Amino acid sequence: MDILFFLLFLICLVALVIGLFNPKLVVRWGAQERRNRTSVFKYYGIGILLFFVLTGVFAENTDLEREKENPNISETSIEETVNADKRAAIEVDSKIESLGDIDSITLEKSNDVEVVRTNFDSLNSEQKRYVTKLEILIQAEDKLLFLQEEADKEAAAQAKAIADQEAAAQAKAIADQEAAARAAAEAQTKAELESAQSQNNYTVYITKTGEKYHRDGCQYLRQSKISISKSDAVNVGYTPCSRCNP
Ligand SMILES: [Zn+2]
Repeated sequence: MDILFFLLFLICLVALVIGLFNPKLVVRWGAQERRNRTSVFKYYGIGILLFFVLTGVFAENTDLEREKENPNISETSIEETVNADKRAAIEVDSKIESLGDIDSITLEKSNDVEVVRTNFDSLNSEQKRYVTKLEILIQAEDKLLFLQEEADKEAAAQAKAIADQEAAAQAKAIADQEAAARAAAEAQTKAELESAQSQNNYTVYITKTGEKYHRDGCQYLRQSKISISKSDAVNVGYTPCSRCNP
């Protein structure tokens, strides 16, 4: 409304200025001889004063109205925001509560706790201030962390036990293999010894004075002939006769 009066005030002002130069342009009514500067001042001067006052009065009224309305509007909107923040906080609080007692927190609830944490983190800082059960959520997270560490330790211990078992089994297999190889080697040595013994275990003949052993019937056995096993003869230091090649 004050804008309208201000415009009328401006129009009167412009008309007054124009009228100073050419009164007939702005005073287009009444007798010709009265269309002069006096009439311009009378009509437009009054108009200027009137619209100036009206503009001021209405501008003041509008300001007062705004002052009256604005605090109400902003207070209401603050209240609504606060209520919305509180509602969001209460929702998160109830979700924290639904996680249950700290004793009931197990690794199976990991996902639930994670979801509630995400809900809490997605609140803005004002909303977070209204959350009252954050401590319970933190305790639940701490317990889960502890449980996870315990589970990891146990899994590591189990893995180590299995690895130890496997290593022991492997070591035993190697020891068994070695023992079997040793036994086989021993058996072979023994067999070789036996075969060597059996090879040397036939009877040869020596003489009273000679250092050779002979086959039965060798011409060197004409003077004396003493029977002895080949191995004994070799052990005592006799060597084979080059003639009969025993
Ligand atoms: Zn001989």
